[in-house]
Amino acid sequence: MDFGALVDVFNKRGFKARAFDGIEQVVKVLEEEIAPNQSVGVGGSVTVKISGITDILRARGNTVYFHWEVDKSEIDRVRKLASQADVYLSSSNAVTADGKLVNIDGTGNRVASMFYGPDRVYIICGRNKVVDNEELAVERIKEKACPPNAERLGLNTPCRKTGRCHDCDAPDRMCSVKVVMERCPKGKEINLMFVDQDLGY
Ligand code: SF4
Repeated sequence: MDFGALVDVFNKRGFKARAFDGIEQVVKVLEEEIAPNQSVGVGGSVTVKISGITDILRARGNTVYFHWEVDKSEIDRVRKLASQADVYLSSSNAVTADGKLVNIDGTGNRVASMFYGPDRVYIICGRNKVVDNEELAVERIKEKACPPNAERLGLNTPCRKTGRCHDCDAPDRMCSVKVVMERCPKGKEINLMFVDQDLGY
């Protein structure tokens, strides 16, 4: 996939966008750019999890706050610590060709930390996350991200059964907060790392 135009669009909107051939290159850059004494928060992300970066950072001494990797009783505390870390790692549910990051969260910790809290953020996006516009981004999230996430988490939502959104009122509903980032917020460094691989969902 040619990410040239996408990188240009996001750089014009104040983000720091780069493209990579594979996730291994991304991991190498993260090892170089995150100092060993920096704390690292992680948003719920299959992409970050499968990259192996959290194990690498911990092994060399970084403090890593990732609520997927702690006991259930610690989840809320670790989410809060992640939101105050020096650096934050996440993915995006969708990115649009016209330069927007579109995300939907159940708790909201991930999307909040992407735009407020940690001064430096890295967002890793596989090619499967790229769509033409905001409308298609929401469609993508509802049809491609929510059903497998419901399956992974064992949630009782209609999308898990049918593969499409029913704008449900289920107690397990995952869609509480929708955030569209149209520009990099002032005072924030947001690194977008586009990868020529299908990563996460
Ligand atoms: S609103 Fe409900 S049915 Fe629709 S994607 Fe979200 S959890 Fe699934």
